[in-house]
Amino acid sequence: MIAIVVVRAGVAEDGWLDALHEADGNVLLVGGGVADAAGQVAPYASRLSGVALREGGPATWAAAIAPLVEDHEVVLVSGGFDGRLLGPYLAHTLGRPFIAQALEVTTAGAVVPALGGTAQRQLHVAGNFVASIQPGVVGSPAPAAGGPAVLELLEVTATEHRELTSLGVTEADATTIDLAEASRIVAGGAGLGGADAFEALARLGAHLGASMGATRVVADRGDVDFSRQIGTTGVAVDPALYVAFGISGAIQHTAGLGHPDHIISVNLDPSCPMMQMADLAIEADASATMAALLELLEEDRG
Ligand SMILES: Cc1cc2nc3c(=O)[nH]c(=O)nc-3n(C[C@H](O)[C@H](O)[C@H](O)COP(=O)(O)OP(=O)(O)OC[C@H]3O[C@@H](n4cnc5c(N)ncnc54)[C@H](O)[C@@H]3O)c2cc1C
Repeated sequence: MIAIVVVRAGVAEDGWLDALHEADGNVLLVGGGVADAAGQVAPYASRLSGVALREGGPATWAAAIAPLVEDHEVVLVSGGFDGRLLGPYLAHTLGRPFIAQALEVTTAGAVVPALGGTAQRQLHVAGNFVASIQPGVVGSPAPAAGGPAVLELLEVTATEHRELTSLGVTEADATTIDLAEASRIVAGGAGLGGADAFEALARLGAHLGASMGATRVVADRGDVDFSRQIGTTGVAVDPALYVAFGISGAIQHTAGLGHPDHIISVNLDPSCPMMQMADLAIEADASATMAALLELLEEDRG
């Protein structure tokens, strides 16, 4: 098994650790700045190779790297934005089935989420396949036993394939930025008003470059889409910053939270679990605090 990890501007994309873990540390870095990304990945890799690819899109990249990985029964792709795009092209180029956003992968198949994430399904695959793996399913990394791996740079023959045409780049929208990949999240719970409050929370997220999340209570009452629900039956996240407005911190919510570097919690109840977890716990009304913060940021921008 080999893990392909897509690199952009010297940074391995989200999900690199999960792909590397499933492939027992055998990694091929692909993209721009693989030498820089090697520093990030090497301590956890048992075998590390890289291909510098800057030009072209997923079809060109898939054609270029297919010969390098075709001997592996299972080819895993990091499950970040770029890997999710590359995976199906690579599967098509190799003539193999593709399993998207698996939770666990072996040479015999994969475990995938089912029934909207409330259950898991084991897929058995007879033959070779390509899979992407969901970011955030593996916990803390363990450094490879043999010490940091040394990067071996590989050459590929230049190929050109018909690519999709980009129609433009849109402004980030806090209500649609993928939660699983977000490094900053502003989230609201039952203590944060209704649908209007979540529109304001999305604006706050846009100011802070953060994605918007919510608890199941909020998703159940229809104030946000279920894709915004964080937790065991929602999305597993792992941001650097998590700001919680009116969230109690029930275990089914916090189990999907990963290990944020910083948690800020605004709540009327100083003893609730989310306030206990926070490094900055603000005992105040969630809607009023959010509105005041938003006003300051909007004044600032104005
Ligand atoms: C099988 C199962 C799966 C589940 N999966 C998930 C899941 O994936 N994700 C998830 O989130 N939940 C999940 N839940 C639900 C979970 O148990 C909790 O009920 C839920 O997380 C609580 O959401 P909450 O914090 O928004 O609401 P509450 O627990 O009701 O907390 C509201 C908080 O707001 C505070 N508050 C109230 N008014 C204000 C105010 N004006 N200003 C500031 N603070 C205020 C309160 O002090 C309280 O702390 C699941 C439950 C089950 C049984």
